[in-house]
Amino acid sequence: MEKSFYFGPGIEAEEKKEYWHGDLWAESPLFGQEKITINREIYYPNEFIIYKENGKRRFGRIRSIVSINDELQIKIQRICTYYELPNNLHSNVHSITSESQLWLIDQHLEEGSIIANTYEIIKKVDITIVRDSTIITNSLFIKEILYKNNGHWKLRDATLDYMHPCEYSALSSPPSSYNNFRILKIFIDIYYDDFGTYRNTYHSLGGVYIQLGNMPFEMRKHLRNHFVLGFVPFGGCFKDFIHPFIKDMKQLEKGILMNIQGRDCWIIAGLECITADLPQGNDLTGCRTCLAKENATDITLDIASISRYHHITNIQFKNIFTALTLEERNNIAKEYGLQTSLPIFDQLQWERHLQSPQDIYHIIAGKTLKLLKLTITMLSPEGERNFIREWKSFEYPKQWSKLPNPISHLESFMMSDRIRLGMVMPFILNRSLTINCLKQQEMDKLQRRIKLNRNQVINAIIKCWAIVAKCSQLTFKISLTIDDRIELERYLKKEREALVELFDDFVGLPNLHASYHLSRHVRTFGTLVNTAVGTKEMVYRKNIEFDLLKYYTTLQAIRHLSDGGIDPRNLQHSVEFMNLFQDFSHLFKDWFIMESSETDNKEFKVCSPSSYFRNIMLRKPVSVRNTNIGIDTVSFRTDLALAYESFGYNSSLINKTCNFYEYASYIQDVHNAEVQCHLSIDDVVTIQVADYGESYAVIKGIFKHKSNDGYLYPFIYVDWFEDICKNHNRLECPIFVLRHDDTYCKIFPLTVIEKVQKVHFVHDCNSRCKDNHNLENKHYLRNDFFFKVI
Ligand SMILES: [Zn+2]
Ligand SMILES: [Zn+2]
Repeated sequence: MEKSFYFGPGIEAEEKKEYWHGDLWAESPLFGQEKITINREIYYPNEFIIYKENGKRRFGRIRSIVSINDELQIKIQRICTYYELPNNLHSNVHSITSESQLWLIDQHLEEGSIIANTYEIIKKVDITIVRDSTIITNSLFIKEILYKNNGHWKLRDATLDYMHPCEYSALSSPPSSYNNFRILKIFIDIYYDDFGTYRNTYHSLGGVYIQLGNMPFEMRKHLRNHFVLGFVPFGGCFKDFIHPFIKDMKQLEKGILMNIQGRDCWIIAGLECITADLPQGNDLTGCRTCLAKENATDITLDIASISRYHHITNIQFKNIFTALTLEERNNIAKEYGLQTSLPIFDQLQWERHLQSPQDIYHIIAGKTLKLLKLTITMLSPEGERNFIREWKSFEYPKQWSKLPNPISHLESFMMSDRIRLGMVMPFILNRSLTINCLKQQEMDKLQRRIKLNRNQVINAIIKCWAIVAKCSQLTFKISLTIDDRIELERYLKKEREALVELFDDFVGLPNLHASYHLSRHVRTFGTLVNTAVGTKEMVYRKNIEFDLLKYYTTLQAIRHLSDGGIDPRNLQHSVEFMNLFQDFSHLFKDWFIMESSETDNKEFKVCSPSSYFRNIMLRKPVSVRNTNIGIDTVSFRTDLALAYESFGYNSSLINKTCNFYEYASYIQDVHNAEVQCHLSIDDVVTIQVADYGESYAVIKGIFKHKSNDGYLYPFIYVDWFEDICKNHNRLECPIFVLRHDDTYCKIFPLTVIEKVQKVHFVHDCNSRCKDNHNLENKHYLRNDFFFKVI
């Protein structure tokens, strides 16, 4: 466990993926580096300092001690003086009471924080953040934060910010006799899902899971690494259920002695994040993160100044508890949008608003469903026909299971189905939606609303879908670079604008509003996927297993009855049933569950020219005639020779025979993890090409060839997608041309493949694509909305 787990300071990474890339890990003493010694002085996060920046002395506040390239550095929140305030704010500061007032710069602005080397730290300094009105004189103080709203500089009260984690959690050091023990800090993530409320199932059962944030993402996403704490029984009380866990956690926050593989360690665990999808969901109550109401989707919403903060909510709770009558108590609670009792997790050290993020799985699925419903309701009968035709014939990613009919079965769509349909909707609408496809009154309504002509309305709907789909894709990215984070923020804004502009139903919608908080969650937890509930997939899988079990039981019952068995309810043979089925009895004879219908096919093992690929098996031979590949051509032989050269075989080839197959499977080592891969004809693969980066190709043939030394090697024959550096005008996806000719080398060792089916290409249809795609048109769109739902 110790080897693969991460215990250490927060890491300032270019590309954020893990929990330790987020602010919370770095800043909280329960998880990150709690102190550092510089010039024999110990510095802690949340302390104020004087440091050197470009040779000048400045005030700053230590946010965290982070590791950059294995070296500890100091992340500082910048502070400005009166003279450094933007000019337009000088008048806002009524009178300079003294030279002693300073301003914190919002740490999330680009100019809000800076990373300094330890030698740039000069000394500590006393600065007080004034959160109530009693100003302490004779000392430097801060009572306002400089920030930006909608591009304008503004000041807000210093109370309107999350406290530094050091202000609400403390690391208790182990007893002195344990001082030399290694301290391991564990990051606990808890997820409560009342899944009955979100699917059309009959039972409602709350599952509580925990995950360990110290696991790298690749490990954490596996099913076996979700630990089920238990299920809250029907009608049971969550508080009672969770009580023993809270008790343990309180102990763990203080630390316990544990022997790990023969070594005594001091273990500390802290609560990092709670994702709870309680029955009220996102749509019924106000926002749990801020105080937005009817204005929830306003473009100019000033989130920082309306956010809920733990220390402010504490005062509100106090007011609730001091109420004299029950009625008064309820009224106050209602006014604040709070419960009448403290959340049970308040017994632990946490910031209740910051550490209970909205779940992107619910947000995106909810938003997509709403947009689907609105779009489908607008369709005229012709629109429905066109839509269903394109929906049926669409070239879905191969690994998807069939989606239910969205017009008749929308209500039974599972969340993952909705998210998937969202990834292809822009293409389906782009193919099917014309001005006759909308009901007349809907078209009129939209024209009035957005003041555009009918063609522009159609364009606007398709573009809106493309923006929503792009937003989902960015939201679910498993790692985020700075550019990704900027793009995500830009797209979230575009999405709010587009949806609110087109549809009245989205105005003030809590699900859309929730996206306002996503950029904060990214900073706090590294990515959005980190706090997303992959567990839901597990719940689904569990349900699928349950369904299979049900089918299997039914089948067994039918067999039982047709074999002359007795149904205990009527205690006699079901004669009619037996008669009815005697002719079909063979149907029920040899039922068993197989992994795949091809398991009895012979497999051919071949050598691997790469140490990253093992166990390469070829299956299902096909004759070369059926492959449409000419193997007697000069270009085939040249390409094959080049492929051999790429792994160091330079002699001319003796053997001419190539045996083709439909499938290949192999084990690939990716970042020290073993990945079982399957490849088949027509799959799109990603290949890294020197000087070009990531390139895409379609597998046209998989074959083995005997080298001069008698070993059999696997090769692929491909058609390349050529990037023509142009984007589709409505969907903004890049256009590629599928090259069938032999301008580019077409044969490679199978081991050049980087990824299989990780990208999705869609035909860029023209008017000649009628019942079938007109394949003379070789233009394809890369589906930039495609992602794997974890
Ligand atoms: Zn909010
Ligand atoms: Zn087409």
